[in-house]
Amino acid sequence: MLALRDAFFSVMFPDIATCIGCKRKALDITFPLCSDCHQQIEYYDPKLACIRCGRSYHGGKCPGPNIGHVMALAPYRGYWKEIINLYKFKNYRYLHKGFSKKISQVLKSNLKAEIDLITYVPVTDKGLKERGFDQSHLIAKHLSKEIKIPFAALLHKNDDRPPQRSLDRTERLKGWEGVLSLNQPDKLQQKHILIIDDIYTTGSTLYQCSKKLKAGGAKKITAFTLAN
Ligand SMILES: [Zn+2]
Ligand SMILES: [Zn+2]
Repeated sequence: MLALRDAFFSVMFPDIATCIGCKRKALDITFPLCSDCHQQIEYYDPKLACIRCGRSYHGGKCPGPNIGHVMALAPYRGYWKEIINLYKFKNYRYLHKGFSKKISQVLKSNLKAEIDLITYVPVTDKGLKERGFDQSHLIAKHLSKEIKIPFAALLHKNDDRPPQRSLDRTERLKGWEGVLSLNQPDKLQQKHILIIDDIYTTGSTLYQCSKKLKAGGAKKITAFTLAN
């Protein structure tokens, strides 16, 4: 039955059933790498990671903002970067299942018991229109089913801002005024919230989201991103 399903998907989605590295058969239809190429992804060990930025522990002061606890699956490079880009920009939206499975595997041995509610960093309405789906929403919702922790769409992003890298810190902070609003504030009171995002770069988006959630009554924030 499984072989039949794989055969069906390889006809329907030829690119996804083969490894993006070497074109051999992929691990499964939600994860387009063979086991050899998969080994090249440098997954973090959460026990050896900086809790402020999610990268491998680096000593010294972390430049990341204080969000609470940040976790990431792997650095944004190599095959991992390629897979994320297929997902975000090439409309391979069924990859959300592979991503949420990986996140759930990490959470099952770290933190799962402490989390009350799962949410995500939303794209703007304009972004949603352009892409046709919200990448972090899909992952968060599937993850919720996978690890049986409730899901809620807690945040709404109101507009598009200029690229954050081009602004200095003060301008960046000012640029956030009125951008985020809270949905269903009654749901987050005193909760430990897990917030899903795709890529952590400066951490400023996650910082603003966590600030909003805390101001709305959340007890604690843990962020989980695909890459950083
Ligand atoms: Zn391969
Ligand atoms: Zn750090």
